[in-house]
Amino acid sequence: MNTRLDSNAGKAEKFLRRFRETTVGHFIDGEWRAGASGETFETRTPVDGSLLAEVAAGDERDVDAAARAAERTFETWRGLAGEARRKLLHEIADAIEARGEEIALVESMDTGQPIRFMAAAAKRGAENFRFFADKAPEARNGLSLPAAEHMNYTLRQPIGPVGVITPWNTPFMLGTWKIAPALAAGCTVVHKPAEWSPLSACLLAEICADAGLPPGVLNTVQGIGESAGKAVTEHEAIKAIAFIGESATGSLIMAQGAPTLKRVHFELGGKNPVVVFDDADLERALDAVTFMIFSLNGERCTSSSRLLIHDAIKDEFLERIVERVAGITVGHPLDPETEIGPLIHPEHVRKVLGYFDVAAQEGVEIRAGGRVAAAGAGYVEPTVLAGATNDTRVAREEIFGPVLTVIPFADEAEALKLANDTKYGLAGYLWTRDTGRALRFAEALEAGMVWVNSENNRHLPAPFGGMKASGIGRDGGDYSFDFYMETRNICVAFDSHRVPSLGR
Ligand code: NAD
Repeated sequence: MNTRLDSNAGKAEKFLRRFRETTVGHFIDGEWRAGASGETFETRTPVDGSLLAEVAAGDERDVDAAARAAERTFETWRGLAGEARRKLLHEIADAIEARGEEIALVESMDTGQPIRFMAAAAKRGAENFRFFADKAPEARNGLSLPAAEHMNYTLRQPIGPVGVITPWNTPFMLGTWKIAPALAAGCTVVHKPAEWSPLSACLLAEICADAGLPPGVLNTVQGIGESAGKAVTEHEAIKAIAFIGESATGSLIMAQGAPTLKRVHFELGGKNPVVVFDDADLERALDAVTFMIFSLNGERCTSSSRLLIHDAIKDEFLERIVERVAGITVGHPLDPETEIGPLIHPEHVRKVLGYFDVAAQEGVEIRAGGRVAAAGAGYVEPTVLAGATNDTRVAREEIFGPVLTVIPFADEAEALKLANDTKYGLAGYLWTRDTGRALRFAEALEAGMVWVNSENNRHLPAPFGGMKASGIGRDGGDYSFDFYMETRNICVAFDSHRVPSLGR
């Protein structure tokens, strides 16, 4: 008997009932719609594979209705004073907080992510709205760039209706991370959530509408990536695509958006190195390394999936990681004690387990885990792959599960070479007490974000995004507005300069 799990399960059941009772529709122009084709897909909980909901499978007609609604509303929404947008976005944040428990429980059941992390993710969703709410009044601000006989000034204007396409790993938080700045900038939105985790996007649409967001400003179209998602990227009324997902999907989206010259912003995959030198605070490094690969089921773009460990400490550090892994609690995601829940989908479980065979074939040692966990078929043991070289597939490919690949290095030069020898460039983590080395290494590391002596610690004004195959563009602070807005320059003469003349 586990009373906290039972209590959460009871509450989750109450919140999920509405999804079971009717087909989950699209939210277009302020109303729920069944979808033009009448076709649906299932969303099942990874806890035991039982059905959570039938969801409308959108097609290009639904996307067209959503994009047209976003287009119609754009003129009014962009015209609303920044202060009014600020107030409304704060009201959305209040409403997210008020329904935080519901969001967290629904999200945990839909994704398998442990409730301990989803409770924080719901809060982070509200913070995203608050942060960009406060920035809304300054979104249009520009620069004054005086020249000798002209005054140049810049202004920013919202680009238009935008498409937001999100993945399944932390869907609610990631949706808000894109939608809040778009709305603050004055854009209207068509959101296509991931088909493996469609439910929390319905809650977000509902919360925004209840808080007073006008119809057509946020439209949510459910559906499969290759149809509904593709239609969003191809629609001529959609001016830009903010996408989070796999690098290969990013390439497809770029091609799909080419005929309509879409602006794109991509947050893609990663195979992020965490480099631990022998002079590091090893206790703190151990906590961070373990947290950054085994939290969020390892289904985390910034996970420290490649541990580069200094030769001098590799045996001891590896031993300590293996001890920690033995203590990690794998179980029902609604149990507050659970640290790793079930992976999102049987197909993803197969993919992650497949890498254990790959490791064996590549001669990489499975030091811990490497099997389906006792909790059930959808659960994978936290796994440590040791003694890998950087040319193995388990060191090069994004596994996106609770799997740490460990690679030793001899000195700083080799560590840097290994760290950068990857197609990805999202995040990098560095553990050393040597300040000079930290500065040198951080500068040379090919990653959009580097954390020195820290786990991923987000500061919302700071830029977030990847280099190389990990992304294009930056989010966060004012960087988000650069994407959702057009920067324009106005040049006004003082009437004193000589205007060139022809044909006098
Ligand atoms: P995915 O690329 O399979 O799907 C993401 C979204 O794209 C889904 O909504 C999907 O329906 C849609 N989609 C698929 N094909 C499409 C197409 N042809 N046109 C338009 N839309 C399409 O990714 P996933 O498996 O849902 O998510 C996991 C990936 O996301 C990992 O690679 C992870 O690293 C990445 N991710 C990156 C970040 C980041 O900030 N860099 C954050 C979270 C996740």
